[in-house]
Amino acid sequence: MTLKLSWGNRPRQAQRVTTLTSRHEGIPTESSLLPFGNGRSYGDVCLNEHGVLLATRNLDHFINFDPKIGVLECEAGILLSEITKHTLPHGWFLPVTPGTAFITLGGAIANDIHGKNHHRAGCFGAHVLSFELHRSNGEWFCCSPSEHADLFTATIGGLGLTGLITTASIQLRQVQGPWLTGSSHRFANLQGFFDLSSVADESNEYTVAWVDCCAAGRRLGRGVFMLANHTHGDGSITARTPLRLPFTPPISLINRYSVKLFNEVYYRRRSAEKSVARWHYQEFFYPLDRLLEWNKVYGPAGFFQYQCVIPEQDAARHLKEMLGRVAATSSASFLAVLKKLGSIRSVGLLSFARPGITLAMDFPNHGSRTLALLDSLDAITREAGGAVYPAKDARMSSESFQQYYPAWREFSGFIDPNFSSSFWRRVTENIKK
Ligand SMILES: Cc1cc2nc3c(=O)[nH]c(=O)nc-3n(C[C@H](O)[C@H](O)[C@H](O)COP(=O)(O)OP(=O)(O)OC[C@H]3O[C@@H](n4cnc5c(N)ncnc54)[C@H](O)[C@@H]3O)c2cc1C
Repeated sequence: MTLKLSWGNRPRQAQRVTTLTSRHEGIPTESSLLPFGNGRSYGDVCLNEHGVLLATRNLDHFINFDPKIGVLECEAGILLSEITKHTLPHGWFLPVTPGTAFITLGGAIANDIHGKNHHRAGCFGAHVLSFELHRSNGEWFCCSPSEHADLFTATIGGLGLTGLITTASIQLRQVQGPWLTGSSHRFANLQGFFDLSSVADESNEYTVAWVDCCAAGRRLGRGVFMLANHTHGDGSITARTPLRLPFTPPISLINRYSVKLFNEVYYRRRSAEKSVARWHYQEFFYPLDRLLEWNKVYGPAGFFQYQCVIPEQDAARHLKEMLGRVAATSSASFLAVLKKLGSIRSVGLLSFARPGITLAMDFPNHGSRTLALLDSLDAITREAGGAVYPAKDARMSSESFQQYYPAWREFSGFIDPNFSSSFWRRVTENIKK
């Protein structure tokens, strides 16, 4: 048994790891299997305590790329960073990308990830043309919207439970080069975010806001709003060597004082009104990828991310209550991101993204104190009729999950009988077998 960790460095669970070496090889016949991409999920959705993880990173071959129409077929263990490196010189970029390029194609499909262009492009699953799914009984399915369509919608956002995706074909998005142009705008409170968002989403492909979770009172919800569009120009930037945290500090470096200082500097660094910018795509989409293993700054106890989506109607009231609670505790959130999700329907039965405002916050793990805060945020999300994102979760209750994802029962019918995960057992544990 090996200790395999997800990005939040918790839970700490032992499991066996089987490294897959070819997409043609059969998968083990044992029970309790789960595909593992690059472990960029924060909690236990990619973990399988006492079971077997099928490590997919060696399935990293390109199969076919047509630069005329931007259709790419490749193996599922390939990283998004590798895809961009291969296709951008031909003028094609990812249709949807998260805040890190170090995730696999299989992980992007299984969590049906969303990005800063959700209001324009929907989720990743909307751009998947087909994939091959390997089930533990030896069957292979080629799934697409027209072939095995039910397995297709169950597997997109299906948390790795419907089988192993070995290859996938996706439609890329045409761009003029690696550059984006746009601007950042400071806003003084939560209402400022809503005002900017309603205007910016109409004319910009990418919009996102950083929020100062330490600000309270009149400044509650203040932050910086960023918007951008792809632009022409092929000049390259000097390749930046990523830095790496050399060791895990014995305690979390993220605390109320360090976060307050960072947030104040970050907020003040922006000019009061608006600053125009030109970004290389790596700088714009993946600023955190510059510091490899930045998750170690939270120390050995790890951290939680809480990401919810709140329906737009009444979102201001619910988000105010959440941010007020966070500002009033000593559980500082270093990274807090707000983004309006659009109305393009997600393909997956269990996809997280739905219309509303999504808020994502990181919290150092202080045990029961942190869990109580997160439970209180869940109470607000439940009351609002929202949902919490499984890719970021390590603690939501089964009652919460089943309210957030009413299609979970229908979904269970598509689970491969030999597949399971720590997450799935946790969120369905109250169900009598
Ligand atoms: C810094 C950072 C920023 C992020 N930003 C965003 C964001 O903006 N938007 C967003 O949506 N997410 C975001 N995420 C979350 C991340 O995109 C997802 O958790 C993603 O699924 C991780 O992919 P992975 O390859 O690391 O897969 P893992 O975390 O290893 O696994 C994720 C799930 O995919 C399944 N899986 C993996 N490979 C396969 C396969 N071949 N076949 C079937 N199932 C498979 C696993 O079983 C598991 O259920 C972010 C994460 C980090 C660390």
